[in-house]
Amino acid sequence: MFQVIFIIAPIFIAIIFILVIAQLISPKFRGKMMSRQVKATKYMIDGSKEDIQRISTDMAYATKEGIETTTRAIKKGFSEDKSIYCKYCGSKIDEDSKFCKICGKEQ
Ligand SMILES: [Zn+2]
Repeated sequence: MFQVIFIIAPIFIAIIFILVIAQLISPKFRGKMMSRQVKATKYMIDGSKEDIQRISTDMAYATKEGIETTTRAIKKGFSEDKSIYCKYCGSKIDEDSKFCKICGKEQ
C-alpha cells in the first residue's frame, strides 16, 4: 500500500514541476494554460449561475422583509396612538369611531 504512494507521489510532483517549468519557459504554453483556466472558471460560473441567482434573490427577499419589518416598527413607533377607550366597557377603540366595536354603544 505504502509502496504505491511512494511511486505515485514523486511522479505527481514531477508532473507538477514540469508543468510549472513549462509555464515559466514557454509563454505559449502559459497562454494555453491560462485560457484553459479561464474556460474552466467560465464553465463553473455558467454551471452555478442559477444557484447564484437564486441565492441572491433569496438574500434580496430576506433583506426586503427585514427592511419592511424595521420600517413598520419605526412607523408604529412614530405615529401617535390614535386610540381611546370605550366609556362603557373600557375597550380600546379608534379615536374617531362613533360606536364601540366591542359593546356597540355610542360614544
Ligand atoms: Zn364598549
